[in-house]
Amino acid sequence: MFERNEILDVRDDSERGDLSCRLSLRRDVVPEVFNAHTPLSHILGDLDNDDIDPVLFASIVDEAFRYFQEMSPDFKLLPLDRYVVRHPSKDDDIGGFHGKGQGNMNAGGYFCYDDMGFGTLLNKDNIPNIRLRTYELARNYLHDSMHASTFRSMRVGPDGQEHRFQYGINFRDFDNTSFSAPDGDDEGRFVNLNIFMEGFIQKIIGDFIREKAPEDHAFFTEPGNGPDNPDVSDRERAVWADITEPENSGDVLPEAQPFIDFVMAPTARYMNFWEFEFETKGLGSANDLRRIYFHAMMSGDLSDLRQAYDDMIGIDNAWDTLFRQDAFTSDLATYTSSPPASPKDDYVCVFPFGYFST
Ligand SMILES: [Zn+2]
Repeated sequence: MFERNEILDVRDDSERGDLSCRLSLRRDVVPEVFNAHTPLSHILGDLDNDDIDPVLFASIVDEAFRYFQEMSPDFKLLPLDRYVVRHPSKDDDIGGFHGKGQGNMNAGGYFCYDDMGFGTLLNKDNIPNIRLRTYELARNYLHDSMHASTFRSMRVGPDGQEHRFQYGINFRDFDNTSFSAPDGDDEGRFVNLNIFMEGFIQKIIGDFIREKAPEDHAFFTEPGNGPDNPDVSDRERAVWADITEPENSGDVLPEAQPFIDFVMAPTARYMNFWEFEFETKGLGSANDLRRIYFHAMMSGDLSDLRQAYDDMIGIDNAWDTLFRQDAFTSDLATYTSSPPASPKDDYVCVFPFGYFST
């Protein structure tokens, strides 16, 4: 979860690290961040809280867990005491995924070296609908759970330090040169793979919520229930649009535009381009291809993904031909055929401030 400056800082810094894990290097901010937050387990256990509806939250997350775990058994939810939530700090801050707090790191995102997610609630003053605030928190929790479940492997570099080598479907040299180039193209044939992973999870969570909540979707969008419904404000309609169609919400939710420009638009172009190819070549549905991406990200096993691109492009080693930049020098061969046994499970730091145990 990022404010524009955060994203650009990450990107300008030689494309080092994936978007979420780069931020984790800023560990100095964590104690301050932590003090303003409440563990999700506490919020869900307090049935009298008026921030979110715990029963609705549990039903969304439970159904999403089963849906996404069916796409890849490596998908796991972050433990409820490893996802912490705060209220927006300013009256004019809408909060949520695009809230102002993200920019100065008062909130936001998954910290892989602490194995914790940080979220911000929507502002009750702007968004009085408690169901909407619940959906927003659910998507942000699912989003960070997907970051937490994304496969990563570590290796020791020439400097004697541990370096992350693989994160999902992307890789890093010891000097942090990325397997995939920083920029995509206008057509959507290729995209930076870290940007894609960030946008892809936002997109599939949005599609899931839209399809699984038709009554709420109608309430927030349809004429009669929507635009002329005095119970739903323009801001609430905009937030629902962002949850369910995060690549297209900029017109109604200006706070979302930087994220759309940098992450969602190139991701949507890329997804559209290859879903069309996949379908027209008779290889399966768009959902089949999404399942291949998701399983490759979660498991670290890229074999089905590589096969799909060989089949779509009609050459061997098509994935590497499309994505690998010349500057990347590491040898993938020993990793891609047989991924190392999930070192992510061994790489969980004890949160250093005494509140949690691992
Ligand atoms: Zn993210």
